[in-house]
Amino acid sequence: MAEQALVTQWVVIGCGTCPTVFAIPKETDVALRGNHRTFYAPCGHSLSYPGRTDAQKAEALQAEVHSLERKLRAAEKPKKTTAKKKPKKRKRPFSLLGSGRSEVCLKR
Ligand SMILES: [Zn+2]
Repeated sequence: MAEQALVTQWVVIGCGTCPTVFAIPKETDVALRGNHRTFYAPCGHSLSYPGRTDAQKAEALQAEVHSLERKLRAAEKPKKTTAKKKPKKRKRPFSLLGSGRSEVCLKR
């Protein structure tokens, strides 16, 4: 019969309500951190990991990076103007013809 090595990594946890210290398998700890479920210390006090896991934090940061990249691209794009441009008023060359004023009147 072949021997099978049983290697389990343990995570030591303090109760937080009382001084009880206990250990759970690392896989269980990872699962509890991911699903935020309530679990119980041997003393009966309930515990949970309410915070985000490293993977969840990385996912949130990645989403923020994408959002900032979109904003940067939008800011770099030339802006389209929706307002119509007013036609420029052309200056008419000054003419005495048709103004009704003589050269003498203009000097006053
Ligand atoms: Zn306790």
